[in-house]
Amino acid sequence: MKFNCANCGKALQHDERAYIDMPIPPRGMTEIQAYLKLNGAKIYCHDCVQIRSGQPKKA
Ligand SMILES: [Zn+2]
Repeated sequence: MKFNCANCGKALQHDERAYIDMPIPPRGMTEIQAYLKLNGAKIYCHDCVQIRSGQPKKA
């Protein structure tokens, strides 16, 4: 199965870390490939996703 970043289109290599935007599967993570396809999951590379700090700064 090939994955491309949904934002920049970059091809994601094996072992490359990525972010997946998807609904939580009702029956756990088995058969995840079929689930991703069915639910139109979007995958983003590290360059396109930035995790915010868990501690919100006060403005
Ligand atoms: Zn990207």
